Amino acid sequence: MKCYKCKQEIDSDSLYCDQCGEKIYICPDCHIPGKGEGKRCGKCGKPLVAAEPTPKAPVRLVCRAENITLDLMDGALIGRVEGPYAPKLGRLQFVSARHARLTREGDHWIIADVGSRNGTAVNGEWCFSPLPFKTGDVVRIANFYDFIAE
Ligand SMILES: [Zn+2]
Ligand SMILES: [Zn+2]
Repeated sequence: MKCYKCKQEIDSDSLYCDQCGEKIYICPDCHIPGKGEGKRCGKCGKPLVAAEPTPKAPVRLVCRAENITLDLMDGALIGRVEGPYAPKLGRLQFVSARHARLTREGDHWIIADVGSRNGTAVNGEWCFSPLPFKTGDVVRIANFYDFIAE
């Protein structure tokens, strides 16, 4: 996209123009930059809003009580015996040998329970079908271990 002020090409997720420093205002519907604060979208006429940072997808699950950090990997199995996290989870007795699977989807992740004995939950909701989680959410493994998505 282009900065309205200096007409330089800037990254589409910029909050400020990296050329002239102008704060970027965009149309909340069309997602195109407009002419600054208090102006309206040239296309649909909606009042512009300040550009917001795009939410970052979490990169790890952290269990503070057990001092365990799992780096999120697309397609990885969470398990006490199987999968890339087994060396870290091996001592967690309530986690199943094959417990849950992680999948990346844009700015969030999906966790699917793969028939574990003690279950999986996201923010207190049981994972009967795959559930999404994003930064700040609590993924509870085996109804005992709370992992924060960071
Ligand atoms: Zn500029
Ligand atoms: Zn618009």
